[in-house]
Amino acid sequence: MLTFPTHFLVGAALSYLFGFSLLWGALGGMAPDLDLFTPWHRGPFHSIFMFPLMMGFAYLVTRSRKKSIGAGIGFAAHVLTDWLDRDTLLLAWPLSSSATGLGLTEWDDPFVNVSLCLLSVVAIIAVKKRREKRPWKDVIMDFVPKIRK
Ligand SMILES: [Zn+2]
Repeated sequence: MLTFPTHFLVGAALSYLFGFSLLWGALGGMAPDLDLFTPWHRGPFHSIFMFPLMMGFAYLVTRSRKKSIGAGIGFAAHVLTDWLDRDTLLLAWPLSSSATGLGLTEWDDPFVNVSLCLLSVVAIIAVKKRREKRPWKDVIMDFVPKIRK
């Protein structure tokens, strides 16, 4: 349903919320749209049954259970959020080849995309603050690039 930045941030935030890798959640969140380089966008690579393959691939690359589960969460978040919009996808391929979608919004709806991006950023900062038991200002400053003169 979403743009690249939204898939990146939602995947990162959900992975991080469940205690897994921020980076690999983000990468998993973007992975399904690699099919944009094929004629089958929103086809088999947007099937929920690709979820274990994504985790297996991430495990082969990272040799880390936490990172591969994070990538799987990001992947699942991508597929499920794409399923919410008007463009259909092959959610249950290969069990079903019928394209499905809930039609609740457009993939490029700026309100939905900006809202989900902001919500994801706030969720990441809130979880980091809670885990590290540090003041909001200090946690937020972790994400601000430091400029030296
Ligand atoms: Zn997609």
